Amino acid sequence: MFTPETLKKELNAPKHIVVTTHHKPDGDALGSSLAIYHWLKAKGHVVYVIVPSDFPIFFDWLPGRQDVKIYMEDKSANDALIADADMIFCLDFNGLARINAMEQAVRSAAGTKIMIDHHLEPEGFDDYRHWDSGAAASAQLVYDFIVDVMDDHQAITLDMATCLYTGIMTDTGSFRFRTTTSSVHSIVADLITLGAKNWEIHEHVYNSFSENHLKFLGFCLLNRLEVLHEYHTALFSISRQDLNRFQTTTGDTEGLVNYALAISGMKLAALIIDRTEQVKLSLRSVGDFPCNEVCKKYFNGGGHRNASGGNSNEPLDKVVEQFKSILPEYKERLT
Ligand code: 5GP
Ligand code: MN
Repeated sequence: MFTPETLKKELNAPKHIVVTTHHKPDGDALGSSLAIYHWLKAKGHVVYVIVPSDFPIFFDWLPGRQDVKIYMEDKSANDALIADADMIFCLDFNGLARINAMEQAVRSAAGTKIMIDHHLEPEGFDDYRHWDSGAAASAQLVYDFIVDVMDDHQAITLDMATCLYTGIMTDTGSFRFRTTTSSVHSIVADLITLGAKNWEIHEHVYNSFSENHLKFLGFCLLNRLEVLHEYHTALFSISRQDLNRFQTTTGDTEGLVNYALAISGMKLAALIIDRTEQVKLSLRSVGDFPCNEVCKKYFNGGGHRNASGGNSNEPLDKVVEQFKSILPEYKERLT
């Protein structure tokens, strides 16, 4: 295990560094990764951001996005970069299964692995970790890491502040979730002082939907929402045809599950989508209901107590059936 001192010393000499994050990166994954990217680059390191899959187009404006490599688009070149890296920064995930196709390359890489993350139960692949499952976002931990651990507040540029603001904003549901403590607000205030344009970032992320996206949302709300009053649970099930009909792209289902949870009295919400490779589940809850436990036990997944994901190789209707059949086991915690 590295200490902050050894890490600081290592970072004093130029290194080859890979920064990576989880499959289907969200705002926190990208914001944290790009903030670290800008920080390391400014210190004179040669840095590559390699991500396991594509991500929503409403993150295309993020500073540094043009330098992000998608692993499968040039697998052999990216494998070489990963194998040759002196260090690999792993942002917003703590199990290598979360980087899907990149798992083997990163697992077998000799470089020092530095993990910055806020999910439960780290796997333990890392050589150094800055980890806190109580943090609102990995971007909050990147800020702490740079400011408190590396003692480098002066290095936070406008681009870094913009990336970190995006990560905290998206992972806190725009500063609404329980994790949004006063210290989170203090960090966000500092990021705005450093130049992050909060209003502009909101516009980019939340007010740049395509017409199809909004019509797809309307369709889902009207036709694909089922409320199970007995279990205080609401769910969407979305077929492949639904996705095709509205020519959805990555990101068009982002946030949909929150509408189900917005119905008064709901304690659990599910979004079950037939993706081409697998059926993907997103669970959200309020209070003590353990979404991560359900995802881990039944759907090869995990996450946080109130926000988790998983997947299944069964057909969509079977997964919906299985999800409903699990509810009686949790009835006490749902009512
Ligand atoms: P989402 O529902 O937005 O895909 O993910 C919600 C949360 O659950 C995120 O924190 C994400 O990292 C986690 N998560 C999503 N899918 C998986 C998965 O397949 N495995 C694990 N361990 N966590 C997941
Ligand atoms: Mn996160």
